[in-house]
Amino acid sequence: MNTYRVALLPGDGIGPEIVKATVKVLTAIEDLFGTYKVDWQPGEAGFSVIEKYGTNLPSHTVEMLKTTVAALKGPMTTPPQDPTSQQSATIQMRKMFELYANVRPCFTLPGVPSLKPNIDLVIVRENTEGLYAGIEFDIGEAAVAIRIISKKGSERIARFAFQLAMQRKKHLTYVHKGNVLKLTDGVFNQAVRDVSKEFPQVKVNNYIVDAMAMALIRNPEDFDVVVTTNLFGDILSDEAAQLVGGVGVMSGANLGETWALFEPVHGSAPDISGKGIANPIATIFAGKRLLEYLGEKDAALSVEKAVIRVLKDGITLTPDLGGTAKTSEIADAIVAMVEL
Ligand code: NAD
Repeated sequence: MNTYRVALLPGDGIGPEIVKATVKVLTAIEDLFGTYKVDWQPGEAGFSVIEKYGTNLPSHTVEMLKTTVAALKGPMTTPPQDPTSQQSATIQMRKMFELYANVRPCFTLPGVPSLKPNIDLVIVRENTEGLYAGIEFDIGEAAVAIRIISKKGSERIARFAFQLAMQRKKHLTYVHKGNVLKLTDGVFNQAVRDVSKEFPQVKVNNYIVDAMAMALIRNPEDFDVVVTTNLFGDILSDEAAQLVGGVGVMSGANLGETWALFEPVHGSAPDISGKGIANPIATIFAGKRLLEYLGEKDAALSVEKAVIRVLKDGITLTPDLGGTAKTSEIADAIVAMVEL
């Protein structure tokens, strides 16, 4: 039997509630299949551990992560109003493990309000460069942030996106602001065009980011794989998640060469934390993608089918989807639908 050592980082706010619900579902699937085992390694990270350790990513957690093949993570709080606060634990892990590809599928789900009935796209965001390189300094009357776009980083994410497009509808859209950011997006755009020569079967087009923000609303069904730089990808992927029912149902994956981090796309939702009403589906889908990454494709499919059955029934839904169910009730409903 294959055993996978996987880190489990519950995070802050609603994180522990939705991660608990997710582990319940994943454990039910694992028991049903009986062919593999996930050896969860609980880890401390996030805003809630700063008081105890003076950091949101303690060294014992980092050492533990290094012994695992991947991690499932709940959202973590990073107060934006405090300029002295630590960089988000998520961003630190992305850098530490060189998780260069942030991959967010957004697709219409049964029973979940969607702007159009047939949306099925993936936003691939470069995860290590751009404005999120985290290089900022004060120059007296102003502050400066550095936007780094390298040929190597751009080609790497472009190749990843083309490979994904080959497994899907063979259509790739690259998004930039090359008309203003001529040098940095010049590097990115040239890298995409260069890599496109390796994938002649993939149809390629491009959008300026502001036009893309509009196109995602006007004709989201026209897109397949969308590849872009860090900040644009962050914004567009939240927009795309909203098209298909909001942040409560979509997951993100941060992929590197040797390690990966799976998480919901939403944050720690302090406004509903502790109320037991958070939607766990985004995190359950993150768990499904973790199983795919581990090579347990049939188990992953079972998770997806069980979630879709619950959504189709439309009986057990959390308030963000118009229902009155609790987080734990969704998990129980999904477990009840699980089959081989
Ligand atoms: P948020 O995603 O936490 O919340 C936005 C809105 O969506 C809120 O109304 C919230 O109640 C709702 N929502 C989010 N998840 C939900 C769920 N599962 N079920 C039902 N409703 C849900 O965004 P925010 O308020 O801007 O951020 C809160 C904190 O989360 C901040 O500290 C931010 O830095 C952090 N954050 C962390 C991550 C991460 O860990 N990857 C991502 C985004 C934000």
